[in-house]
Amino acid sequence: MTRCVALIAHDHKKEDIVALAGEYASTLRGCKLIATGTTGGRIADTHGLTVERMLSGPYGGDLQIGALLAEGKVDLVIFLRDPMTPQPHEPDINALVRACDVHDVPCATNVATARMLLDTLAGQVAAG
Ligand code: PGA
Repeated sequence: MTRCVALIAHDHKKEDIVALAGEYASTLRGCKLIATGTTGGRIADTHGLTVERMLSGPYGGDLQIGALLAEGKVDLVIFLRDPMTPQPHEPDINALVRACDVHDVPCATNVATARMLLDTLAGQVAAG
């Protein structure tokens, strides 16, 4: 089964998510990738990964990903939030993280946790 991974990063975390996507590119190539607009563009341009891009986060991209997740269409979320900068779409961010908790979907909000989840995902993808 093809797993769906959602990738989102706030502006100060975009370098981190692009680096992470490069590190795990071989695993992510075996997954369906969705992302908020700018994050998805950066990952696709840098690594040549196929990414389905939603709207940019502040324009509703987090909510779009949350809606897909609520429908059972997202298996893992990497959401690198910037804890130091207030975001205009804070309610949307909280809604997405809440949806992960409601639906018991793994959600990494920092790089260390993201690596743990992606390591597990790598094993699952390799096992088919
Ligand atoms: P972006 O959205 O990838 O379009 O920048 C992420 C966010 O800021 O929530």
